[in-house]
Amino acid sequence: MNPLYDRLFGAHEGKSTPFLLLPSGRVLTHDDFLRMAVRFAHVLSDAGLRPGDRLAAQVEKSAQALALYAACVQAGVVFLPLNTAYTRDELAYFIENSGARLVVADNAKEADLRPMVEGLDARMLTLNGDGTGSLPEAADRQAETFPTAERSADDLAAFLYTSGTTGRSKGAMLTQANLLSNAETLVEYWRYTPDDVLMHALPIFHTHGLFVASNVTLLAGGAMIFLPKFDLDTIIARLPEATTMMGVPTFYTRLLDDDRFNRDLTQHMRLFISGSAPLLAETHIRFEERTGHRILERYGMTETNMNTSNPYEGERRAGTVGFPLPGVELKVTDPDTGAELPRGEVGQIEVRGPNVFKGYWQMPEKTAAELRADGFFITGDLGVQDDEGYVTIVGRNKDLIISGGYNIYPKEIELVLDDQPGVMESAVIGVPHKDFGETVLAVVVAGAGSAPDLDQLQSACAKQLARFKHPRKIVLVDALPRNTMGKVQKNLLRDEYQNAFA
Ligand code: ATP
Ligand code: MG
Repeated sequence: MNPLYDRLFGAHEGKSTPFLLLPSGRVLTHDDFLRMAVRFAHVLSDAGLRPGDRLAAQVEKSAQALALYAACVQAGVVFLPLNTAYTRDELAYFIENSGARLVVADNAKEADLRPMVEGLDARMLTLNGDGTGSLPEAADRQAETFPTAERSADDLAAFLYTSGTTGRSKGAMLTQANLLSNAETLVEYWRYTPDDVLMHALPIFHTHGLFVASNVTLLAGGAMIFLPKFDLDTIIARLPEATTMMGVPTFYTRLLDDDRFNRDLTQHMRLFISGSAPLLAETHIRFEERTGHRILERYGMTETNMNTSNPYEGERRAGTVGFPLPGVELKVTDPDTGAELPRGEVGQIEVRGPNVFKGYWQMPEKTAAELRADGFFITGDLGVQDDEGYVTIVGRNKDLIISGGYNIYPKEIELVLDDQPGVMESAVIGVPHKDFGETVLAVVVAGAGSAPDLDQLQSACAKQLARFKHPRKIVLVDALPRNTMGKVQKNLLRDEYQNAFA
């Protein structure tokens, strides 16, 4: 038994249906893909990996990279995909921290990485973005059947490191059941079928591109247009082949900035999904005006996969992340006492369900602090649930500003600023202040070809917000710092402006 392998991969053995539509125009069928994965599984086994061992992969997105994930599942190896932007030193942390026995990386990095990898008692194989390397070479000589490793639903399938938006990335231990239960829920909730073709331009080292996008497609038996990165021209050229798309909010704002992205181009599409970072209500509205489609926004995280989603058929409400998914319990609690708050009050979001991870790898204290004994996980996000059940995220607990004893939710101020003429987006942070402890500073990005009037921004805040929430300072910048997942890194902004009132 190996439920994840059987359901996502084994179920498609021998099928000549299209699975990966590659940038070159080449199409890999389910069977082509599985035969490659099986040969990869032999290579892992020959390299001495046994069920429960860890494999770390820092590779460009390719069909082969996805086959490596499948091979790990089949061989019972815990898959640990790593952001391609990580440096050697960062990689060393992940390899040492995870105890990975095999590291797969690009040829170009081999000379730099090998001494470090071998110094950590791991072996190394290469896999390049074009599908070549010592791993696929070794796979060429392998048989096309492999005895699938026995695994139970409770066994670990992956260590997925969090994005590191708020601090050092943590390794979330995810079981087969965590991944499978969420994929099952999403296939049903979003109505995925074997006829779907997903526009996939997300990275596959993150939960969004790997577990949401790929697992959903695999479970449904559909296909993906599998692009190495977001490239506007390619997406526009290939959208006619797709039925659905998943993206981070910046994908959608970039598409909207191009006139070719219009009603004609998108008319045949069934669904656009957004997540990983807040989608501005304004983007949601512009998108509908332009295309007639309402983007479906959902909310999740590395530790839990997806928690909430706007409905497929009901109202997809801009600025909200929808309802708790079937099987996921969600409550909003008082951060100090942990007591559940009534609907309509802002507090910390906690979730429980088969999707919630086992804990952080080798971080028992952090695990104990965030994962309650009764199974509720304290997400670190603050939010509110309305009477109808719609959940709105107001920001991260760590980004909450406490000024003169008052709690200030940055999002409330950002919404006012974003609404003003000439403003594209904003980030509001708390910075040290000798009288108030912290005070409000707003970082604003101008819209294309416009320059917001700072006095006007101040007076808009004065009109709409209580005095203690008014930004004490507004700075104009060209762009907000973002990590590879498109998330605004407020910790970097806090560092930069820490002396603004010193
Ligand atoms: P780290 O935990 O290392 O600081 P991270 O939390 O950014 O990084 P991820 O697990 O990739 O790492 O991201 C999950 C977070 O992304 C959520 O906790 C939430 O803050 C944010 N997020 C995801 N989807 C949405 C959404 N639709 N709206 C607002 N925020 C979202
Ligand atoms: Mg997090």
